[in-house]
Amino acid sequence: MSREGARRETAAPGDRAAERSRTIATVAGLHAELVRYNLVAWTAGNVSGRIPGEDLFVIKPSGVSYDELSAANMVVCDLDGDLVQGAHAPSSDTAAHAYVYRNMPDVGGVVHTHSTYATAWAARGEAIPCVLTAMADEFGGEIPLGPFALIGDDSIGRGIVETLKGHRSKAVLMRNHGVFSIGKDPRAAVKAAVMCEDVARTVHVARQLGEPLPIPQDDIDRLYDRYQNVYGQRSPR
Ligand SMILES: [Zn+2]
Repeated sequence: MSREGARRETAAPGDRAAERSRTIATVAGLHAELVRYNLVAWTAGNVSGRIPGEDLFVIKPSGVSYDELSAANMVVCDLDGDLVQGAHAPSSDTAAHAYVYRNMPDVGGVVHTHSTYATAWAARGEAIPCVLTAMADEFGGEIPLGPFALIGDDSIGRGIVETLKGHRSKAVLMRNHGVFSIGKDPRAAVKAAVMCEDVARTVHVARQLGEPLPIPQDDIDRLYDRYQNVYGQRSPR
């Protein structure tokens, strides 16, 4: 077991409660980003976050408007999607989030939206080709298409995991439905959802003008490697 894992198992109950509260506050606050970036309508869309050190995650309650979301009405579920803490029913997409957490242990955050341009690609049943350096940076290639799946069992979760496991992309277009994105934490998953919609819009506009130019695979690989490993603020050594 990793040192991190060993440390987590011996965390005092007070530390665990603090981690839980911190994750609840983070997930509640991140819902405002979905509104800010115009990714959601009415009560559609949701963010969840794994609680570090516990087999639990925080998710949006079902049917509560974005204006009313706060840490107080978030819900906590176990990895089977069953309610553990909270006064509301969990989001109707909870089973899909739970399936991802059960099957992708490195995932710490999941986001779902029906954001307009990305969902238009999903409605056409087409992956978004990698024709922008920003796509190579963030997604390392195309944003793939997942299967058509109905809500009610594990089909959506299975479709997400089967498409994204082993894929560089942190977002999947579920056919005829919308976007699911993942990240090492909930904030990274929100970023992937925002970037997915941004590139979906740009590539769509490019398509109206002609055929977008592909980026050679070597260059995609270089861009992805640089962005994932070098770009951004580095901690001092
Ligand atoms: Zn949906």
